[in-house]
Amino acid sequence: MRVRFAPSPTGFLHVGGARTALFNWLLARQSGGTFVLRVEDTDRARSSEAMTGAILHGLEWLGIDWDEGPLFQSDRVGEHTAAGRRLLAGGHAYRDFSTPEELARDRANIAALAGEATRAARRRAESLAPGEAEERAEAGEPHVVRFLVPEGSTEWEDAVHGPMRFRNRDIDDLVILRADDSPTYNLAVVCDDAHARIDMVLRGDDHLSNTPKQILLARALGFPVPRFGHVPLILGRDGKRLSKRHGATDVAGYRRDVLPEAMVNFLALLGWSPGDDREVMDLDEIVRRFSLGRILRKGSVFDADKLAWLNGRHLSRMDLARLEPLLNARLAELSQGVQAAVQDRAGWYRGLLEMLRTRARSVDALARAVLLYLPGEVAYEPAAVRKHWKRRAQVQEYLTAFRRTLDGCEWQPEPLERALRGLARELGVGAGRLIHPLRVALTGQAVSPGIFDVLYYLGRNLSLDRVERALETLAAGEADPAPAGHAAAAPVDR
Ligand code: GLU
Repeated sequence: MRVRFAPSPTGFLHVGGARTALFNWLLARQSGGTFVLRVEDTDRARSSEAMTGAILHGLEWLGIDWDEGPLFQSDRVGEHTAAGRRLLAGGHAYRDFSTPEELARDRANIAALAGEATRAARRRAESLAPGEAEERAEAGEPHVVRFLVPEGSTEWEDAVHGPMRFRNRDIDDLVILRADDSPTYNLAVVCDDAHARIDMVLRGDDHLSNTPKQILLARALGFPVPRFGHVPLILGRDGKRLSKRHGATDVAGYRRDVLPEAMVNFLALLGWSPGDDREVMDLDEIVRRFSLGRILRKGSVFDADKLAWLNGRHLSRMDLARLEPLLNARLAELSQGVQAAVQDRAGWYRGLLEMLRTRARSVDALARAVLLYLPGEVAYEPAAVRKHWKRRAQVQEYLTAFRRTLDGCEWQPEPLERALRGLARELGVGAGRLIHPLRVALTGQAVSPGIFDVLYYLGRNLSLDRVERALETLAAGEADPAPAGHAAAAPVDR
């Protein structure tokens, strides 16, 4: 199976483009086929090298590698033009000398008459005397070359949608060579697909109306006609075509917060269903399970929450050896000297990551969580304070008792738990009454991993320092529950 991804470098790597690339790549990888990358850069004015670079980069980041290319469509303009000339010579195309006024009139009529009016240019060409078109062309009179759409209908078995049929009378005699002899998009695509021996074209639904034109052109040129499949659009939450209004549509926009394996997993599920509820998959598993037959026929909604969830799942199962450099880079951005602080505590650091990564949904969130276990000020989240430090005198009493109990305690989760439960019994309260205010003191938050693990990973000194600081804060009357009206501006606890 020879498949291709053919982006136009007139923009970045769009989520939809990335999905098209991925689906084609999956087909190639699971069939032992070839994935060809072709850059469709014939629109010189709108294409840029920077965009080409961005697209290739995006693919590399996702782990989508290509076997051939990148081929550049602009390298083969001469061949495209020659193909246009062959169509002309073989009677599959004609020269159109229509004036701008005539074309404007045709366009006005098309709305009223549909199919018929699209043949107005053809009728004018047919009304010329024999040899006249060639003479006028040789004399340098400007004209375009149009494809002569044959009678009948054009059908194909779409790999996604099943049998498709277009009436040819609804297809315009499309321009294949412009007045400057340059080839148009559909002609170039057909020539390049044939040249690369592509046998399966899988692309977005937005190309559906190009397909009958490309099939007709390929037949007229004597090229083998590839199979076609059209993947439905990606939609925003409101059911409209995904656009910037819905958030980032540029794949690069996700590079900071999303792991490539999570993005690939997410893209695979956008328009394809594995058929059961196993959704968290790595690339190898997706390659094994992907099938054309399970591509969905309806548009799929881009669900940012699902992406975040998948990211969290991959974060908790990926190789620590791969996670660590990503995380360290983020830590270094957030705070200087962290690297040194974790370097000579490798075992502790690994354990901490194992504990924290099952709860984080992004590398950034994980990095911020790690920072809490290193020396530094704790910011008390207003919502956590409101909830668990409401009875200030009582909290002070508990924390003071706690400080005393912990002082001589062996610093391991089990002894810490025994000590805290013993204290709760002594004070005649449930352990939760101690744990919640303590968690706020240690982390500033209302939610955290199990408190005894938190204590263990913070270590004795840092834990006791934080209890101390909480007591000072409470004594000074700071960290008062914020008035309700201010709550919206405060960071919320997750
Ligand atoms: N260059 C086209 C695009 O970016 C794709 C052409 C094709 O897949 O046939 O939409």
